[in-house]
Amino acid sequence: MESCNCIEPQWPADELLIKYQYLSDFFIALAYFSIPLELVYFVKKSAFFPYRWVLMQFGAFIVLCGATHLINLWTFTMHSRTVAVVMTLAKISTAIVSCATALMLVHIIPDLLSVKTRELFLKNKAEELDREMGLIRTQEETGRHVRMLTHEIRSTLDRHTILKTTLVELGRTLGLEECALWMPTRSALNLELSYTLRHPIPAGSTVSIQLSVVNQIFSSNRAIRIPHTCQLVKIQPLSGRYVPPEVVAVRVPLLHLSNFQVSDWHDGSAKGYAVMVLMLPSDSARKWHVHELELVEVVADQVAVALSHASILEESMRARDMLMKQNVALDLARREAEMAICARNDFLAVMNHEMRTPMQAIIALSSLLLETELSPEQRVMVETVLKSSNLLATLINDVLDLSRLEDGSLELDIGTFNLHVAFREVINLIKPIAAVKKLSLSLMLASDVPVFSIGDEKRLMQTILNVAGNAVKFTTEGYVSVTACVMKPEALGDPRAPDFYPVLSDAHFYLRVQVKDSGCGISPQDIPHLFTKFTECRGGTNRSQGTGLGLAICKRFINLMEGYIWLESEGLGKGCTATFVVKLGMCNNSKDSSLQVSSIPHPSPAELSSLNSNLDTKEAYRCLVKLQCFTILNQF
Ligand code: ADP
Repeated sequence: MESCNCIEPQWPADELLIKYQYLSDFFIALAYFSIPLELVYFVKKSAFFPYRWVLMQFGAFIVLCGATHLINLWTFTMHSRTVAVVMTLAKISTAIVSCATALMLVHIIPDLLSVKTRELFLKNKAEELDREMGLIRTQEETGRHVRMLTHEIRSTLDRHTILKTTLVELGRTLGLEECALWMPTRSALNLELSYTLRHPIPAGSTVSIQLSVVNQIFSSNRAIRIPHTCQLVKIQPLSGRYVPPEVVAVRVPLLHLSNFQVSDWHDGSAKGYAVMVLMLPSDSARKWHVHELELVEVVADQVAVALSHASILEESMRARDMLMKQNVALDLARREAEMAICARNDFLAVMNHEMRTPMQAIIALSSLLLETELSPEQRVMVETVLKSSNLLATLINDVLDLSRLEDGSLELDIGTFNLHVAFREVINLIKPIAAVKKLSLSLMLASDVPVFSIGDEKRLMQTILNVAGNAVKFTTEGYVSVTACVMKPEALGDPRAPDFYPVLSDAHFYLRVQVKDSGCGISPQDIPHLFTKFTECRGGTNRSQGTGLGLAICKRFINLMEGYIWLESEGLGKGCTATFVVKLGMCNNSKDSSLQVSSIPHPSPAELSSLNSNLDTKEAYRCLVKLQCFTILNQF
């Protein structure tokens, strides 16, 4: 372009050459002038082109080139000096701009190259994104399939149906020729062909788990391709096929209830896996796709979960059946126990009745015998008979009471009675013994104790007599005092009886009875055991050969009377205080009573003998009371 020869020396003009040159210069100039226009148009249209100023420079360079060619048109003939100057200026400018453009191009080429690299990089990225999009779409497709399959598989909770459904659904979704499941045998040394999709299971289809292909399947959680000649594929005859089928196998974890932990899935233990074999149709030239393999893997895991759910259900059903059986057995045992209790109670009732009558006769007759003339030896013998009979009669009554209390058949015999008289009667019964032992015996009834009250007189007297009798029994010298008062509402809550919930009402009151003695006392560690039946204190010197039933029975009577009892003692030899509270009904007819302090005089021998003579009375409770009394009498 720059090869303008406008200042070359003139040589004989060849008309035609000059004409061509003239025309060429004209067209070159025309073309040069058109290029900047195109460049301007390009720059205007391309908003992001980064090298605008380079283009401008390039445009100027082309315009100048065009200008030199245009000026050249006037140099073909004789031309003026002005033309030559203009031509020279044009060429100088063209030279400067072309050099600057060449330098600039050297400068921007690396930039332009990097733009190209970036373009390539972006292209690669776009392709990668395309691939990822395809993958995501495939995964979505797989996910949809898995969801469908999972739904089908989990719609049942029966193990066999789960496995059958899996094969059917996988066969349908993947268009399989065969799908089979090899389950571990009981010994876990072999795999047994247990389920197939289309072909009948050949007899004795087992393979050893030692096979390398089985090991390979067990050691990976992926679906792996296995050769069609492998033993696991020998489900159908393959002869006569041109193209063998493509087969994959995947392990199916068998989660047991006892080892239901995800970590167990990958422990590679042979016992914990089944093998699923999936076969594409032969002669179809179909190959396994990655997303199909992924689907198989996910389905295998889903089957594992469904199977574990099924086994949990089976386990809980088994547990439920076992519980039902146990319940039936328990029910039977309960009924038998109830029958046994009834039989025992019947036996006790009969025994009590049948034994008490002759016992009373023995007691009465031996008492009468004691009134007659007897030699000293005979007297000792009759007294021994009397003592033994009394003990036996007491025991019979206590055992009967206790068994009836325990099975809940003993009910209180509620009626109106004279509370003061009941206390006095009890005191009268123990008075002779206290007198013989030279003990001071006192009864103190507070003024607020009503004369008449409603309750079970017999059981109340029996309780007072037992507690007061114990006081006399375990005291050799000193005193025994019995006090009774009505509990004030504010004193009702007692920390010693946390289970006692008193109910305040005008219709009843709580009677508090306290029996104090200066006897042998009780060691603190024995106190908690006193109300346990057949328990007696270990310490102390003056202990009886009692039955240990008295306080146990009293406690149950008191519980029936909605009260509580406790014993206190500062230790051995320091006396004892027994306190109990019972709930009694208010009687409207009761008269006011004033504080009564009875100092009981020592009984006369006549009173003592009248005690014996009263034994033949018909009233059961009086007899009982007397028997208790005799028991006490026998202690000294
Ligand atoms: P038992 O009928 O054999 O006397 P209890 O149940 O009435 O049985 O009494 C249980 C034990 O409590 C007695 O053996 C005695 O050791 C002790 N005990 C009860 N009351 C007193 C008391 N007032 N003083 C000392 N020990 C007592």
